[in-house]
Amino acid sequence: MSGLGRVHSVGLNAFAADVIEIQANISNGLPGFTVSGSADTSLREAKDRVRAAIGNSGAKFPEKKIVVALAPANLPKSGAGFDLPMAISVLIATGQAQTPLLGETVLIGELALDGRVRPVRGVLPLLLGARDAGFRRAVVPIGNVREAALVDGLDIGGADSLSDVVAWLAGDRVLDTVSDTGEAPASTPIPDMTDVVGQPAARHALEVAAAGAHHVLMTGPPGIGKTMLACRLPGILPPLGHDESLEVTAIHSVAGTLPAHRPLIETPPFIAPHHSASITSLLGGGTGLAKPGAVSRAHRGVLFLDECAEMGAKVLDALRQPLEDGVVRVSRRDGTASYPARFQLILAANPCPCAPVNDVDCVCTSIVRRRYLGKLSGPLMDRVDIRVQMEPPGNSALMTEQGEPTDVVGARVAQARAAAQERWREHGWLTNAEVPGSELRRRYRLAADAMRPIESFLGQGRITARGADRALRLAWTLADLRGTQRPDVDDVTQALLYRDRGTGR
Ligand SMILES: [Zn+2]
Repeated sequence: MSGLGRVHSVGLNAFAADVIEIQANISNGLPGFTVSGSADTSLREAKDRVRAAIGNSGAKFPEKKIVVALAPANLPKSGAGFDLPMAISVLIATGQAQTPLLGETVLIGELALDGRVRPVRGVLPLLLGARDAGFRRAVVPIGNVREAALVDGLDIGGADSLSDVVAWLAGDRVLDTVSDTGEAPASTPIPDMTDVVGQPAARHALEVAAAGAHHVLMTGPPGIGKTMLACRLPGILPPLGHDESLEVTAIHSVAGTLPAHRPLIETPPFIAPHHSASITSLLGGGTGLAKPGAVSRAHRGVLFLDECAEMGAKVLDALRQPLEDGVVRVSRRDGTASYPARFQLILAANPCPCAPVNDVDCVCTSIVRRRYLGKLSGPLMDRVDIRVQMEPPGNSALMTEQGEPTDVVGARVAQARAAAQERWREHGWLTNAEVPGSELRRRYRLAADAMRPIESFLGQGRITARGADRALRLAWTLADLRGTQRPDVDDVTQALLYRDRGTGR
């Protein structure tokens, strides 16, 4: 007996999806099972899963010479999503599964040894790729059905087991279109700004940052509310648009951080890696399918680095490239992968290593103090537009002052953002942070008297050329928040002050 089975699947190559054709060839010869076509170790392990899953699904694994080829051979392939199509190709080649439904269909799924189909990472970008390549139908693990349903224009079937798929191919059953994981639980709400007592300067700084997508450094003693404020930033940012939602969701799908119940991410993500995080966990990487790092999971949202002065200089330095390009390049065994990484950076630091609650109790020498925040100078800090020093609120503030709620602050942010978007419409820039410096200096150059403070800072060497551009962007945001057409000298002065303080100088 000999036979051929052919099915289609999709594989991820960084953030791009490739259609992969899987062919099983069964012939008489020395019994064996070979997988060919640039398969990495995870795919070689697939052989054992495929063999066991077939045997445990009431089908027969042929004692023949079996060659499964994945084409095109030159594309890198990794992950366990090819288990299901490989098993089906073997069953077709041995006449144990039928083919009429397989036209225009892609199959994706990892197999457990007992034949169950397990969820895989990256289903959303995989299926977007399959749809764009002209496929009409996808069979995916039941656990990925909700995520798969986000793709318009594809018929989705969820499979619980290999035998489900075989029965479906034979016309004996339909596949599930919803998962039975129950009703979606309510998503955790973003905490409200009203909980933050006092700290008017820091609250305002955060509002300005949100309005123009500027990066922020907050310094102050522990427990003063830096984290509390930072994690409220997504609440005052505008919600993600449809395309942004899909893009952010696709990244979290590849990262494996998508909640199964609520697959579409509609609010800006808030990602807060620990200060001991490695460069790989921040930027992404790993063997096989490179995982997106924190900078990509924070795409279109907030990357919060608490106690950032405790981070290694190399780690902080590694953030410069994604900050500059909005994309991060991750090196892998087979070249580099690129992931989107346009995030708003919020840094928080204690003023010194001993970090007492009251600064007067500090036991650090002045040299130690200066060196501690000195780490945060140079090229990375040049990209931070807003620095704010937080002081403990007086006791009276704790009792009386109630902060404005998120929806009030968010409404002002939305208004400022709308003004900026309208102004930059013909260029397609969404926020002031995206406007190229050359445009700020030429076409949108401010009046001579408004430019004077910047020129004086430049003349005194108190600001770099890049810093000057960034101060101009911030001045535009301050003007947008005031509801005026153009920044005046006060906006520019204010913007320069925001850059100049907060590092304990
Ligand atoms: Zn100290």
